[in-house]
Amino acid sequence: LPRQPAASPLLALDIGGTLIKLVYTASCGGGGAGAAELRFAKFERRRLQECFQFIRAEGLLGCNGGTRPSRENMTLKATGGGAYKFADDFREKLGVCLDKLDEMDSVVSGANFLLQNIPGAAFTHMNGQRNPINVSPNNLFPYLLVNIGSGVSILKVTGNRKFERVTGTHIGGGTMFGLAKLLTGCKSYDEFLQLSQKGDNFVLDLIVKDICGELVCQKQGLSTSTLASSFGKVITSKKMLTDYKPEDLASTLLSAFTYNIAQIAFLVASLLGLRRVFFGGSYIRGHRSTMENISYAIDFWSQSQMQAVFLRHEGYLGALGALMSYGD
Ligand code: ADP
Repeated sequence: LPRQPAASPLLALDIGGTLIKLVYTASCGGGGAGAAELRFAKFERRRLQECFQFIRAEGLLGCNGGTRPSRENMTLKATGGGAYKFADDFREKLGVCLDKLDEMDSVVSGANFLLQNIPGAAFTHMNGQRNPINVSPNNLFPYLLVNIGSGVSILKVTGNRKFERVTGTHIGGGTMFGLAKLLTGCKSYDEFLQLSQKGDNFVLDLIVKDICGELVCQKQGLSTSTLASSFGKVITSKKMLTDYKPEDLASTLLSAFTYNIAQIAFLVASLLGLRRVFFGGSYIRGHRSTMENISYAIDFWSQSQMQAVFLRHEGYLGALGALMSYGD
C-alpha cells in the first residue's frame, strides 16, 4: 500500500452512474506499525447523504485522532463521472476537495494492482467450478478488460498504465436493471439476482427447437436448446406482462444481457487476437450463474480458445485504482 501518515486512513471513491464505491484503509489491530487492511463499501448514487454520514461515522477524514492538519487542505482521490458532478457537495458537506482522476486509468490500475499483488484475486468459474488462476507479470499482458457497470467499457491492457479503450456499449448493467425494475417490480439488484435464480428463462425465450422442431434440429445437427431469440416466445403468446412470473422475467433478462455482453467481449477479443478476457464491474456482483454464463459463452464462441477470468472485488476496480494513486 502507498505510504501514509500513521493513524490517518486513506479513502478513495469511484462515483459511477449507479453506485458510489469506497475503498479505504483501516489499521488492523496487532498488525504492527504501518499494517493496514483494505475495506470496501458501496452506496447507491441517489444515497449520497448516507455516503457522507458513513464517511464521517467511520472517521475516514482523519478526525478520530487523525493527523491531518485541517480539512480545508484535504483532498480525496476520486474517479467516475460523479467526481465532477458532486465535487461541490463534497466541499459543502464534508469540507474536502476531490482530486479527479481519469476513470479508465483508475479501472486499469485497480485491475493491475489486484492481479499483481493479491494472490487468488483472479479466478475462472466454469462447469460449477471456481479455480484460481496464477498470473505473473510475465504472462499477464496483453489482456482484454471488460468492465460491466451501468454501461460497458472494453479496454485492451498492455502493461501497467498502458491501455486503450477499444470500445464499449451503452446496453449494460443499467439497461438490464432498469428494465428489471419496470418488468419485475424488484427493489434492489440483489432481489433481482435472487428472483432470476428461481426463474426459468425458457418460459419467455425462443430456442432453436421451438422454431425448427426437434426432428429437423437433430437432422441438421443443431443444438435444440440453443437460444434463438431472447423474449421471443412472448410475441406468439396471449399472455400479458402480469401473467409472467417475476422470477421468469428476471431469469430471461439476466441471460439475455449476460450472453450479449459476453458475445461482444468475444468479438472484440477476436479482433484484437487476445485470448484472456477479464471481467469487472458491479454487474457481476460475485454472482455464480452470471459468471457461469459468461464463461460458457466465451468458451462456446471461441471454441475453447479463450478464457473468461473474474476478479475478487470486481466492482471496486476504479476505486482501488484511485486509492493506489495516493502513492504517485
Ligand atoms: P457505475 O460505475 O456505472 O455505477 P458499477 O460498476 O457500479 O457501475 O455497476 C453498476 C451496475 O451493477 C448496475 O447497473 C447494476 O446492473 C449492477 N448492480 C450491482 N449492485 C447493485 C446495487 N446494489 N444497486 C444497483 N445496481 C447494482
